[in-house]
Amino acid sequence: MSHKPSISPEKALQQLLQGNERFQKHQPLHHTTTGRERREELVSGQTPYASVLTCSDSRTPAEHIFDAGLGDLFVCRNAGNLVDELVTGSIEFAAVHTGCPLICILGHNNCGAMGAAVTAAKNPDLHESPCIDHIIRRALPAVLATIDNQADEKAWIDAAAKKNVFNQCKNLMNASQLLRKKIDEADFDIVGAWYDIGSGRVSIITRISELTGA
Ligand SMILES: [Zn+2]
Repeated sequence: MSHKPSISPEKALQQLLQGNERFQKHQPLHHTTTGRERREELVSGQTPYASVLTCSDSRTPAEHIFDAGLGDLFVCRNAGNLVDELVTGSIEFAAVHTGCPLICILGHNNCGAMGAAVTAAKNPDLHESPCIDHIIRRALPAVLATIDNQADEKAWIDAAAKKNVFNQCKNLMNASQLLRKKIDEADFDIVGAWYDIGSGRVSIITRISELTGA
């Protein structure tokens, strides 16, 4: 069963940014949307207003950053906020089965996963495990594209993490015919954003619908 979104991608993005504004100002509504009443309301189903792909980093929990409650966000997390088949399938699932109209791919500064990818670029013979290699392989294109920053490792890691957000938005777009069709029909959008872990601020850095003219 395919659900039409109950709100537009634009409205979903506004809700995310308003939530982030509340988070930055320490004015959460969050506690009102995690109580017993809300839990019971959600037993029969979910209509999350946005999907978020963020890093597994303990400093980047999507529900806190966007001041969201139960049933609000469909969240995927992994080290480096990377798109692979499981993540693509999960985002497609949310779009088709819950009517979720937006995915926000959120990178952040001081990212340990991107730091590991920078270390791997400097030491190509370093292999910690096959599964960590799986992460590094997906992060490496952003690291190599920002190699001009190599004199300053911290700057290189942040530049790579930002570039990685653009890459993952493109990877998702290229991997999913289903999402491309929804974007063409103005039922869905892919947004890349940047999270500053010190200030708590989320800034939008790319929007697929603007790039494709959808
Ligand atoms: Zn990270």
